[in-house]
Amino acid sequence: MSKLICIDAGHGRDDSGASGNGILEKNITLKVAKEIGQMLEKQGISVIYTRTADKDVSLKQRCKTANNGNADLFVSIHINSSENKEARGTETLCYSSNRLAELIQKYLLRNLKLKDRGVKERKDLAVLNGTKMIAVLCELAFLSNKEEAEFIKTDEFIKLSAEAVVKGICEYLNIEFKTENKIEEKREIAVEKTINVVVNGEKDFTQGYFVDGKNLFTADFIRQLGFDVGYDEDTKQVIINPKELKLNVDGKETSVEAVNINGFNFCPVRSLASAVGFDVMGGEKGKVYIKAK
Ligand SMILES: [Zn+2]
Repeated sequence: MSKLICIDAGHGRDDSGASGNGILEKNITLKVAKEIGQMLEKQGISVIYTRTADKDVSLKQRCKTANNGNADLFVSIHINSSENKEARGTETLCYSSNRLAELIQKYLLRNLKLKDRGVKERKDLAVLNGTKMIAVLCELAFLSNKEEAEFIKTDEFIKLSAEAVVKGICEYLNIEFKTENKIEEKREIAVEKTINVVVNGEKDFTQGYFVDGKNLFTADFIRQLGFDVGYDEDTKQVIINPKELKLNVDGKETSVEAVNINGFNFCPVRSLASAVGFDVMGGEKGKVYIKAK
């Protein structure tokens, strides 16, 4: 069952929250909350919000939204402020210490690279003591601090904050965090060389990559072998998840493990070849030799 997260953008409308250095807390919290929601949905995690616009929402109503919606987790987003202009850093508050708070704090520090003010227990905060599920409140940074204020104003801050919260939630829920960036990184790191396939000792076929110890090719390689392979949704020749590609060869359905690189699915040459009745004879010098059985 898909998990449901309640995202709470602190403050709203007449209640601006903290302000200073050209920032109203309520605007930043809303931006971060929406970004978190979008990122969570990309991970296949469902989201409800306590507000999605510049609206007045009571603390009681925020708890009610989470409780009545049966959210599994509650995350409230705030920006800190202090009379002391030197005060800086990131902290995560919770009613009583919990792993979600620890994880989110860990990723916030990793992403924002601000001072670690730690995970703190707060029994007095309405959204923490009025919610029935595990709840945390993130104070991302200090808008009263000039340097942090400049950072808070950037799109990067919004993105990095949201990503950190989502990573924390994913780890807490035991869900692998997926981003397009991560896929891009993986290609840069892992692609060791490009390789070609030689079929029946004759000619070089499509180019593939050597990634993580495997020779990977797109399914287009099958097409070049003379097989009719499509990505037709009606005939179930669809990607069922990023790690698995369903092929349909001669009316027989077969699943082949796939790695998504820049939006294309690459499969181990061994799996692709055997799916269409070829043997892999070995490889050398950037070439893989396959032969019809
Ligand atoms: Zn606040």
